[in-house]
This record gives sequence, C-alpha cells and structure tokens, in this order.
Amino acid sequence: QIFASTTHFCTTAAAELSSKPRNPPRVPNLIGGTFIDSQSSSTIDVINPATQEVVSQVPLTTNEEFKAAVSAAKNAYPSWRSMPITTRQRVMFKLQELIRKNTDKLAMSITTEQGKTLKDAQGDVFRGLEVVEHACGMATLQMGEYVSNVSNGIDTYSIREPLGVCAGICPFNFPAMIPLWMFPIAVTCGNTFVLKPSEKDPGASIILAELAMEAGLPNGVLNIVHGTNDIVNAICDDEDIRAVSFVGSNTAGMHIYGRASANGKRVQSNMGAKNHAIVLPDANIDATLNALVAAGFGAAGQRCMALSTVVFVGDSQSWLNKLVELAKGLKVNAGTEPDADLGPVISKQAKERIHRLIQNGVESGARLLLDGRNIVVPGYEHGNFIGPTILSNVTADMECYKEEIFGPVLICMEADSFEEAINIVNRNKYGNGASIFTTSGAAARKFQTEIEAGQVGINVPIPVPLPFFSFTGNKASFAGDLNFYGKAGVNFFTQLKTITQQWKDLPGGGGVSLAMPTSQ
Ligand code: NAD
Repeated sequence: QIFASTTHFCTTAAAELSSKPRNPPRVPNLIGGTFIDSQSSSTIDVINPATQEVVSQVPLTTNEEFKAAVSAAKNAYPSWRSMPITTRQRVMFKLQELIRKNTDKLAMSITTEQGKTLKDAQGDVFRGLEVVEHACGMATLQMGEYVSNVSNGIDTYSIREPLGVCAGICPFNFPAMIPLWMFPIAVTCGNTFVLKPSEKDPGASIILAELAMEAGLPNGVLNIVHGTNDIVNAICDDEDIRAVSFVGSNTAGMHIYGRASANGKRVQSNMGAKNHAIVLPDANIDATLNALVAAGFGAAGQRCMALSTVVFVGDSQSWLNKLVELAKGLKVNAGTEPDADLGPVISKQAKERIHRLIQNGVESGARLLLDGRNIVVPGYEHGNFIGPTILSNVTADMECYKEEIFGPVLICMEADSFEEAINIVNRNKYGNGASIFTTSGAAARKFQTEIEAGQVGINVPIPVPLPFFSFTGNKASFAGDLNFYGKAGVNFFTQLKTITQQWKDLPGGGGVSLAMPTSQ
C-alpha cells in the first residue's frame, strides 16, 4: 500500500510496512529481516531523469536505525558463519534463479530511477547475476592450503575465515550490478552485510534484498540503510564493521578509504576513470568505429568503463568524419522507449556540469564536431538529455580532458606515433581501463605491457572481466589492495588462519627447551 504502482518494490516489502499510505512512497530500510520505514523526517527525492517525476523518497537513516542494522548483522553472524558452506551456496543458487525470473522487474526499476535503456538495464542485472553464479562455487574458491609433515609429526594448514560484519557503499550508475559485486561474495564467505545503496536509485537494491530473503538468506545477514554522507561516515567509524567495499567518485572514495582504514578496516575503493582508446591506422575501420560509438555513448557515457577518450594515431585521424556520422545516427530517448540508444543523464546538476565541461573544451580551443547540448526529446521535454557530443583537437591541459565527464561526450586527441599515444594515456592520473584497436599483434603486445591501466582491451572496447577474474583499476582509479570479485574478492572478504598441529606419540622425556623451535 505504501508504494504506488509506478514503483517497482516488491509487495512483500510494502506489506511489512505500516498501513499509512505515502505518496510518493518512502524507500524502506532492511533491518534484521524486516523492511522498516525510517523514523527520519529528512528525505531525498528519487527522480526519474527522463520525466522529473518523483519516484520515491529515500530517508536519511537515523543513527539509532543504523546501529540497529549493524547490531542485526552482528547478531546474525555467529550462526550464519557456522552454516555449512554448501548451505550458503544453495542460497546463491536460488538467488540466481530468482534474479533471472525478475530481470524485467529489476530492469524497469533501474530505467525508471537511473534512466538507462531497458536493454542496458537488463545487462546491468546480468553482469551482477554472473557474480551470484560465481558465488555458487564458493566452497572451491574459499579452499585453504595444507602441507603435511612440515616437521616430524607436525602439519600446517591455512583456512580462509569470514571477517564478521562488512559494509558496501554504492554509486548510482549500476544499481543492480554493483550491489551484486559486493554482498553475494561477502555473505557466501560467511560474513553478514550492511548495504548503503546510492540515494539516487535505491529501488534495485530493495528488490535484490527481497529476492535474497526469498532465496533463504536468514534475517540479519543482509541489511540495508539509506542516506548520504552521515551514514557513510557512520559506516567508516563503526567498531563492529570490519571491511568496507566502495564504488563511486574519487572525492567520496578517498575520503572513505582514509577514514575507514584509519579506523582499522579493510577497504576496497573503486573510483573514477578516464578510459582511453588508442586507434592505430591498421585497425579494422568499421569494427573500430562501431566499438568507439558504443563504448563512448552507451549508458549516456555514465559507465566507469566508458571509453571517453580516443587517441587517433597517424592516418586514423581521417576517420573522424565517419565517427561523427555514426554518432549522429544514435537515437536519444527515454530508456523505456524501444528505439532509445541512450537515455538521459542522472540529474539536472550532472547535465549542467557536462554542459560546462563541453563549453570549457570549446573555449580552450577544441573543435566541437558534434554538439548534443540543445537536444529536445518529444514527450520528455523536461528530461536530462544530452545528445552524443564529440570534441576533437583536445589537449591534455584542458579541463574537459582532465576531469571525468561521465556523460555522452567523446574526447578526441591526435598522436603522431604509437609511443606518443601510450605516453598520453600513461600521463593521465586515472588507470581504470584502456583499449587498443589494431591488427598488429606486436603493437597489441607492446600496449599490454606498457599501458598503466587495470582493465586492458585488445580490440575490445569495454573489457570488464567476468567474475572468475577480478575487476581491477590502477593509479587514481583504485585504492586498497584486494580488488572486487575473482580470487581477490574472496580474499578481501576473508582472513587467513594458519594452524600448526602435532599428532604423534610424544616422547616422555626430552625436558624443556627454550630455544626457538625448528623443523626436526
Ligand atoms: P559518488 O561518489 O557521488 O557516490 C557514491 C556513494 O558515495 C553514494 O552512495 C554516496 O551517497 C556516497 N557519497 C558521495 N559523496 C560522499 C561524501 N562526500 N562523503 C561520504 N559519502 C559520499 O559517485 P556516483 O556519482 O554515484 O558514481 C559515479 C562515479 O562512480 C564515477 O566517478 C564513476 O567512474 C565511479 N564508478 C567507478 C567504478 C569502478 O569500478 N571503478 C564503477 C562504477 C562507478
């Protein structure tokens, strides 16, 4: 009753709340297995970026409610960690089935709150689903090591144990995938979890939590609290939280990394990006240009792995006209419209910021080959739309190059040689991803060796690794030392315990020796 039919929270969440209807609906917290309306009187509107309609309101969770969520996670921990690993895996097996069944519902929630096209939103869900599938094999992933007879009658083995209560803080751009990068790995390792979704699009997290509970996750294993800076700081300071997983901007990420690690917590912090593509003249022209347009403008450029900067080497600079023609063909529309290639950007503030950076490029001497600033989308005149925009002749000192734009803007640079192109990429402070387009194996190998980026694509525009590898990130794009998912992800959410055991018929005599024990 609390949620209007235009929202996409499951009815179970609504039913657990008080019967007083609210319009717009309030997004519930999840504490100890119950979806609870926050007592806070402060809220933030969740706004549909294509229409400006208020979809729901996110509460700024009170400190007492936050403490209750952590306490629920702490209380649930002893019995959850003692459950057989196979039982925990089975919850993930069931969860993956439920996510598959509910993909369309999740995608609709994502498109309504975040703006991306429905097809792209389904991809958002699917890339998260793959992490859940990966967590189904946790028994093998979490295996320890054993060396028998390290000394006479003595064996040593190490086991990977969960940490306790862990927390996740999410960005707006992948409302399903990023929560799914976090809690499935954490809880299947035996931890309990407190999730703080983005205040801009919390709906998918609520649906995922409902599905996780339906899949059999016991009460208190996954909790959700909403809010912004205060709740994030409370997470960083809380004595019971052992590890913090963060994805988002550098401002928030470095603050969280500093504050939470100063409080003795593990932190993995995935941050901003300026991903470059190097295009060599020997590349396949059509395949390359298609890839550049898709990776530059997909999701309206609001992907941390968007290829936002292209460095054309030598004669490949002459391909710019064709690139512009291809980009002109893209359809900008609300994400719910079947013909949409790209939807709106997340907020009016984001739109203004992107406009400012485009203007900055123009005023600093870049050539505006395609200007998407004045686009009007019929039927969605109030939406935060920006059409595909291409700036060429950009240089490394320009603001539009130095800042992450996070919009449908492709920055084009030129280099006379491959070495010069590599230097441009490596001088950039970010190191999330980089791709090369070439038919030369030798060039690709040189690129792979010399480029300072975490995710490297060779004729692949968005090289986001599947969950059996780790999502990485170098330089300013990552802080911490254990990356998301893959082996590193399991290591992040577990700690090693090394056991040395002696089982032999101990000789009665021998006396006391105070010397450091050595292998016998
Ligand atoms: P954001 O940093 O504004 O918000 C992320 C989270 O941090 C939110 O939950 C927000 O409430 C919280 N937050 C924001 N400012 C804070 C502050 N000052 N103190 C404490 N908490 C704060 O990021 P966003 O705009 O939601 O997401 C876009 C950014 O995320 C981009 O920079 C993008 O590159 C990055 N991103 C990176 C990756 C990656 O894997 N490297 C993936 C997705 C997004």
